[in-house]
Amino acid sequence: MLYVRYGLLLWIAGGTFDLMDEIVVQPRWVAYYCEDLLRLSGMFITAVGIYRIISRINLLYVDARSRSLHDELTQLPNRRFFIDTIKEKLQQPGPLALMILDIDFFKKINDTWGHLVGDEVLFNLGRMLSDLARNPQISAARIGGEEFAIIVHGVDQPAANTLADTILRQAAAIMVNNQQPLSVSIGIGFHHAQESQESFIKKVDEALYAAKHNGRGRVEWAW
Ligand code: GH3
Ligand code: MG
Ligand code: MG
Repeated sequence: MLYVRYGLLLWIAGGTFDLMDEIVVQPRWVAYYCEDLLRLSGMFITAVGIYRIISRINLLYVDARSRSLHDELTQLPNRRFFIDTIKEKLQQPGPLALMILDIDFFKKINDTWGHLVGDEVLFNLGRMLSDLARNPQISAARIGGEEFAIIVHGVDQPAANTLADTILRQAAAIMVNNQQPLSVSIGIGFHHAQESQESFIKKVDEALYAAKHNGRGRVEWAW
């Protein structure tokens, strides 16, 4: 702002000398130095100021956009990003699988060891999923409190099944408060042609509830 303020001031001063020229006779050096130089330097400083303001706004925008699409605790993309991504992937050719993962008895983890331990579990699970999502075919997001979504694009059913089993195994390698392995349940399904986004997500969600109902710590398929 400082650049713009002083730039405009010089610019206006230059313009004022120009106007005065019409009213009173000024020496020639006033026309050279006061009018042109002031105006030119004013324009230049204002332009620099505007450029700096735009750069700063751009930086703030990029940061705000990233914050609006990421979850603070796990640094994973959030639900909004997940909805955008699934919409985008549905437009692309190739098989599309969705997993919804929910931590088992998470309330009990919080109640037993406290919220900080619960947060640490979420953080560790988030990091594990971020590592998996380095594979360009996999996107992971935190879509709720202790609920995560994993979108897998361009892999067949056996490969998706292996991936779900790998996630179960890697989750179990996370030790809650260094005492007990973390248990998660996963619902998984493939998108069928003509299936709406809502019913695709809903059937995977129902598979997750089946996984909970059938004993937790397991993968259940939606067809
Ligand atoms: P289930 O096996 O049926 O999924 O049981 P659950 O206890 O995991 O499920 P429930 O929905 O009853 O509890 C979820 C808990 O997750 C409740 C809430 O306090 C906790 N939670 C949600 N977000 C956070 C968070 O950011 N940090 C912590 N520490 N806890 C959270
Ligand atoms: Mg839940
Ligand atoms: Mg849960």
